Amino acid sequence: MTTLLVENHAGLSHQMPPGHPEQIARLEAVFSALSDPAFDALTRAEAPLCTEDDLLLGHPADYVAAVKAAMPESGLKSLDPDTHASPGSWDAALKGVGGCLMAVDAVLSGAATNAFVATRPPGHHAEKTRAMGFCFFGNAAIAAKHALDRHGLSRVAVVDFDVHHGNGTQDILWDEGRTLFVSSHQMPLYPGSGSAGERGASNNILNLPLPPNSGGAEMRAAYERRAFPALRAFEPELIIISAGFDAHHDDPLANLVWTTEDFNWITRALLDLADELCGGRVVSTLEGGYDLTALATSVAGHVTELMERGA
Ligand SMILES: [Zn+2]
Repeated sequence: MTTLLVENHAGLSHQMPPGHPEQIARLEAVFSALSDPAFDALTRAEAPLCTEDDLLLGHPADYVAAVKAAMPESGLKSLDPDTHASPGSWDAALKGVGGCLMAVDAVLSGAATNAFVATRPPGHHAEKTRAMGFCFFGNAAIAAKHALDRHGLSRVAVVDFDVHHGNGTQDILWDEGRTLFVSSHQMPLYPGSGSAGERGASNNILNLPLPPNSGGAEMRAAYERRAFPALRAFEPELIIISAGFDAHHDDPLANLVWTTEDFNWITRALLDLADELCGGRVVSTLEGGYDLTALATSVAGHVTELMERGA
């Protein structure tokens, strides 16, 4: 039993305009950090392309067709003021979803204890019918639907600690009562959604908005007071983590001033809950994180925690 690292090398060919924070160098920094000998015990696999049928778990066919049709043969094309596509973007997006599905398959088959998917573009802002916030397809939400519809699970939790609200995951899972979606995020901040009053069709969404500059102590209290009891009551059979590291105090896009140790703490806490509730089954996928050094250090800490359970 090990920790599986799924790498999406197609993410290195997904180009954005010069100066865009969601840049190829992010994934290079993550791959470099995880090439340290400290990570030699990881089982490594290259993310496969997902099929277009896989995308239909989270998006309607006309949306998938529209995104595919928008992919440029050269240069860049904008799908949204923040979200751009290059000739490498389609494969990068499909391998992001495919990597998450591979990770779910490995963890549910018992081949791996837990898994981390090192990928870009991120996924949690992609709504059912709208690319936005650097995202095309809902990696984490599709992974949850895959575990439910194809592996026969009854309850899957998705926990999103990216500093931005996971509006796309919320949109895709809004009326999916077999899921519990928990999102902590800075508010106010992009995309503007994620108030505590947004609860889902069957009270299956728990938003934990945090004020700017609130810091790690307030985050920990919110999880202990609200998220962990909800997760225990839900009794998930699998926990999927939308792991964004842009709440870090060095991140240029937000102001939650968490430390690397805060990310280690939430990772350990979710792993403890997974040990208690679902045999330790955790699939984590990379979302945001825009300071390259903070991203590399925080991912290394996150994956180290995963490996301590997968040993
Ligand atoms: Zn983010």
